[in-house]
Amino acid sequence: MKNHLSVWDSCLMTIRKSINPQSFKTWFEPIKPVRLENSSLTIQVPNNFFYEWLEENYVGLLKKTIRAELGEDGRLEYQIVVDNHTDASMNGAHHGATFNNSGEQIRNPFVIPGIKKVKVDPQLNPKYRFENFIEGDCNKLARSAGLAIAKNPGGTAFNPLVVYGNVGLGKTHLAHAIGNEVVEKFPKKSTLYISTERFTNQIIEGIRKNNINDLVNFYQSIDLLIVDDIQFLSNKAKTQEIFFNIFNELHQLGKQIILTSDRAPKSLEGIQDRLISRFKWGLSADLQAPDFETRMAILLAKMETEGVKLPTEVIEFISYNVKNNVRELEGVLVSLVAQATLTNKEIDLNLAKQVVQSFVTDVNKEITVENIKELVSEHFQIPLDKLQGKTRKREVVIARQLSMYLAKNHTSNSLKTIGDQFGGRDHSTVIYSCRTVQDLMDTDLLFKDTVNELEKKVQMSISG
Ligand code: ADP
Ligand code: MG
Repeated sequence: MKNHLSVWDSCLMTIRKSINPQSFKTWFEPIKPVRLENSSLTIQVPNNFFYEWLEENYVGLLKKTIRAELGEDGRLEYQIVVDNHTDASMNGAHHGATFNNSGEQIRNPFVIPGIKKVKVDPQLNPKYRFENFIEGDCNKLARSAGLAIAKNPGGTAFNPLVVYGNVGLGKTHLAHAIGNEVVEKFPKKSTLYISTERFTNQIIEGIRKNNINDLVNFYQSIDLLIVDDIQFLSNKAKTQEIFFNIFNELHQLGKQIILTSDRAPKSLEGIQDRLISRFKWGLSADLQAPDFETRMAILLAKMETEGVKLPTEVIEFISYNVKNNVRELEGVLVSLVAQATLTNKEIDLNLAKQVVQSFVTDVNKEITVENIKELVSEHFQIPLDKLQGKTRKREVVIARQLSMYLAKNHTSNSLKTIGDQFGGRDHSTVIYSCRTVQDLMDTDLLFKDTVNELEKKVQMSISG
């Protein structure tokens, strides 16, 4: 006999095979099957955000899996856990019953009632906002979780939220954006941003002045605590111990904690296991390097705020070559504008190349014949060995001649060296090829477009 447990177990087996382990852990492990009635399976999810995320990202997979298990009439219903910060109004007819899991609420016996709360300066940078945090696949999860928290701090399953990723990918920006949003939406809540470094210094100072309890009490009164770069807690046992106490208290009170780190919690070194295990209680969301489109979008947004205009080819060039770091992307833009103003030069591709090369270390100074062959081979979908081989097929011959033409015009190789790299042809063949390409360009506009397009690709790919 099938029941909700066995059906959901089988579903999980299929789902596990279809998505990556991190997503599985984040989105499917917390789900509990509740009941099976007729062909309808009810599952319980931790909150509304969770439900929306599943519907948005996994609806196809879920549908397919449920039908495979329960037949064509198979249906899925959601039950959403309502926490103490939200009311029941989120239950559309769609999401069945709800229940309250706020039983964990424990009053803090140590908080002295009646102490006047002084308004805390949140220490936020007002420039870092959601509106100027460009969304891309690279940051989708972290950004959405951040938005969900900003709507309902302390009231989501993402407590703590750990945003992690390499330097310059937007951790600090996102953390401030959440903070700024909460300050606006919940002016009564006390929000505080602090870097781990500064926090550590306060602790040292507190120990020295013997007022560490005041400090701890202060932190325990915060509603949204953002601690940036927690990897710097590493090997600081006393700070870790005190942070542990603050963390526990806030978490128990249902206060929101947001942490950033340059690596995933499990990879943190020199930090006590009990702390790491708490970091994993909520959601760990990583920021990846942005893809080409996102880099373009970030650059365009940045240009608009700075009031700068750049030629499209320059924008594309920068986005193409500055790959790993949003801070570098901004740096290139700023220094490009500065250079242009100082030297009174126009911002063109050449200037952009100079600036990018001074910023990004992995840029090749010059394209190689090998790079060109790869570009052409990919463009025409002709295998490399054919391109440099003996085939006399017309489309291969043209692609080969075009490669030589590009090699002659975009590398500093001699005609002989170029010929050598196309199956040992001599320099007169290279000259002949270049002339043919030129003639074709003069007579065939379509061909000319193709050449232009390839030349652009060549110029764009100065990086390896
Ligand atoms: P991290 O803290 O991860 O080292 P930051 O938050 O300091 O990175 O980001 C570096 C710079 O890049 C900041 O100026 C930030 O505004 C910008 N930035 C990062 N990600 C984005 C994004 N998705 N959209 C717009 N700007 C971004
Ligand atoms: Mg940072």
